[in-house]
Amino acid sequence: MPSPRKAGATAVMPPLPEAFVARMAARLGTEVHALVDALAQPPPTSIRHNPRKPGGPVGEPVPWCASGHHLTQRPRFTLDPLLHAGAYYVQEAGSMLLERALAAAGLIGTDAVALDLCAAPGGKSTHLLSLLGPRSVVLCNEVDARRHTALLENVYKWGAPNACVTRLPAGDFAAVPHFDLVVLDAPCSGEGLMRREPVARTQWSPWLVQRCSTLQAALLEHVWQALRPGGTLVYCTCTWAEEEDEGLLHRFLEGHAATVLPIDPLHPGPVRGAIGITCMPHRCKAEGFFIAALRKPGTAAPWDAGGTIVLEQGRLRPPGWNALPVALRERIDRADGALPVLLDTPGGPAPHPAAAYCREALDLLQAAVPITTVDLDHATALAFLRGEAIAAREARGHALMRFDGLGLGWARGAGNRWNNRHPTPWRIRTRRTDV
Ligand code: SAM
Repeated sequence: MPSPRKAGATAVMPPLPEAFVARMAARLGTEVHALVDALAQPPPTSIRHNPRKPGGPVGEPVPWCASGHHLTQRPRFTLDPLLHAGAYYVQEAGSMLLERALAAAGLIGTDAVALDLCAAPGGKSTHLLSLLGPRSVVLCNEVDARRHTALLENVYKWGAPNACVTRLPAGDFAAVPHFDLVVLDAPCSGEGLMRREPVARTQWSPWLVQRCSTLQAALLEHVWQALRPGGTLVYCTCTWAEEEDEGLLHRFLEGHAATVLPIDPLHPGPVRGAIGITCMPHRCKAEGFFIAALRKPGTAAPWDAGGTIVLEQGRLRPPGWNALPVALRERIDRADGALPVLLDTPGGPAPHPAAAYCREALDLLQAAVPITTVDLDHATALAFLRGEAIAAREARGHALMRFDGLGLGWARGAGNRWNNRHPTPWRIRTRRTDV
């Protein structure tokens, strides 16, 4: 996994923009002092466990997310092999309210065709993959090339066979109105990140708020068209600006028939507005976040999620693939979206890095390529993750390197050692080994 950022631990924070504080004072009255004080505190650390994989740190539960935990200290995540194996994801707790939005829509555990339009680095996508039924197809999309690379790594490591990752513009989805659920975690002015990201403070301006609001309105139109009748749109931002949250959705509802689904956060901290709910750091242990759920009118024929997972042209076909509309399958295929399992190499078929993390991919891979598994202790797992070769008595063929029973990556036998095949960008760069 890309190393989670240090979350303001060493950053020198620029002052809060005066115009931002004035806007919040107009909205909150004297409560603004509590907000400003909270924005001066160190941000809390939280993680979300992967239900497909055991292990990872535990702490106080996040009230609105069954797999979420607040940690009392921030460990050196980079030095935990379980993070690299996809056992958990480091995520700000407010974002985990996605779970309550899905609960409001009655979607938890159901099989759905879902789109996460603005998915990188993958917080909402990995959460969706854990919340929806196993026969869902979850399309994780990110338009920005660099961020798409990070999304690939995080989604691959989460190890769900029903994920597809694409890099398509929003307009492409308006042409395929087949989704039961679309999550629009919109690019925003980032006010809710002002505690942990210095740039959130320096980049903010009323002009940025307006520019984001205009883009969000356009993205809303696209994703609304992508929904099937009766489908659910989850809209969220990490900002508090009315123009990007309640105000934007209020205007959208004036022009579109939609039902607002009330979200119950299961905790008094997040504030319920007319349309969505808002987290503020002086009211709950989270950064800034806004989330709302809207249902499109109508009903669609139930989606047939039958079929088994198969390997086709080196990639996984999730269950239900054949029931997806042809136009959608073609888009996913053209974008090389389905989970890769096998690579064609001059030396014959070899495991794709993504296959190390997914049980179903490994089962199908083993039928095509003989595989050895090698269980590593903590120090050797870190050496492997740094890109080192691992000494062995007899090393032949392809080996899956594991830690605590979870796949970490691949190596190739060279007699007395396993040569490292872990992708260079996924390697850890620090030489330190103390946790
Ligand atoms: N959902 C992500 C998560 O939970 O990890 C965070 C998404 S971030 C708030 C917003 C994303 O929108 C960014 O990755 C950004 O590249 C993307 N984005 C920016 N402009 C966009 C556009 N015009 N169309 C689609 N996505 C855009």
